[in-house]
Amino acid sequence: DMVNFTDFFHKIIDRFEMSKQQHVTFVRNIPKKSLYVEIEPDKITQVLDNIISNALKYSPEGGKISFQVKEQDDHIEVSVKDEGIGIPKESVKKIFERFYRVDKARSRKMGGTGLGLAIAKEMVEAHGGEIWVESEEGKGTTVFFTLPYERNQEDDWL
Ligand code: ATP
Ligand code: MG
Repeated sequence: DMVNFTDFFHKIIDRFEMSKQQHVTFVRNIPKKSLYVEIEPDKITQVLDNIISNALKYSPEGGKISFQVKEQDDHIEVSVKDEGIGIPKESVKKIFERFYRVDKARSRKMGGTGLGLAIAKEMVEAHGGEIWVESEEGKGTTVFFTLPYERNQEDDWL
């Protein structure tokens, strides 16, 4: 389906903003204009649901979660940044592995199986995109992914 990603993303964020139980502030840095991408909406919804629930799960009370979309040459870059506990350096490259969870004790009380990011990676790559994480322990985590995007020719004429 051709989906306007900016509307699509706002709706997903709205759903989390309405149901969240913590005092976490949402900040949106999303272009006003339409950005059409060819995606399977259910699959990308699942990707975002996991990334956003992780951000909420590991955010402190009073933290901030920032959502960003950047239009780049042949793709869009989407990111979700939190101010949570972060991920130790040696774990950053493992979190996309099936069932991998940082610190079993810490993770167990948070619930989940450790599959969310492995599935997200599969789905993003099936769409021709990439996914990666930047994190600093004690400071926070940013999850990025890209989706191929064909700039509307009309945009170049304006
Ligand atoms: P599931 O998604 O299956 O419910 P999960 O959230 O534990 O379980 P993933 O989403 O795959 O699994 O994440 C893997 C691990 O990466 C998590 O258990 C957690 O240790 C770490 N992690 C993921 N996102 C964050 C984040 N935003 N901040 C800190 N740690 C994170
Ligand atoms: Mg998860």
